Amino acid sequence: MRIGYGFDSHEFRAGIPLKIGGVELPHDKGLGGHSDGDVLLHAITDALLGAIAAPDIGVLFPPSDPKWKGADSAVFLREALDRVARSGYRVSNIDSSLILAAPKIGPHSADIRGRVAKLLGIDCSCVGLKAKTPEGLNLENAAVAHVVVLLEQTSLSTKIPASPKVREKRGTRTGNNAGPIKNKKKR
Ligand code: MG
Repeated sequence: MRIGYGFDSHEFRAGIPLKIGGVELPHDKGLGGHSDGDVLLHAITDALLGAIAAPDIGVLFPPSDPKWKGADSAVFLREALDRVARSGYRVSNIDSSLILAAPKIGPHSADIRGRVAKLLGIDCSCVGLKAKTPEGLNLENAAVAHVVVLLEQTSLSTKIPASPKVREKRGTRTGNNAGPIKNKKKR
């Protein structure tokens, strides 16, 4: 098993759509950013990448690259999921906390959980979502997301075939350290 943690924050800006968890919410402001500013999908993406010790979202999809301008953040999530699968893992469950003053997330919680579950290929019952207001944090014009994910190992058949050199190294790994993720070179 592997655990991953992701955090993200975006500032509200007038006149753009608000997308959280892949769902467009009715509000007079949206979240600014190079992509669609989906703070929750970004935090989930980073949690998935962190769980397999992959480069983070900013490295894989740099804001300096015009290719990602206005991008649907589901694209980032799919790439992270693909990397998780290629590393020999699948998502077991996720839990998340959103911190924002408005809009109220409660009425949209089921939609967001459903969309996130669909994107991750897991059941709604495996997607936790809490929303808090930023009491005492002075964050009235920002949205923040914290996410943890748990990954479980898939069967050996789904893993990328390792090079002979890597296979040889893996053969020496035992117990809880035995896993499909390629070891970094020892210095
Ligand atoms: Mg972001």
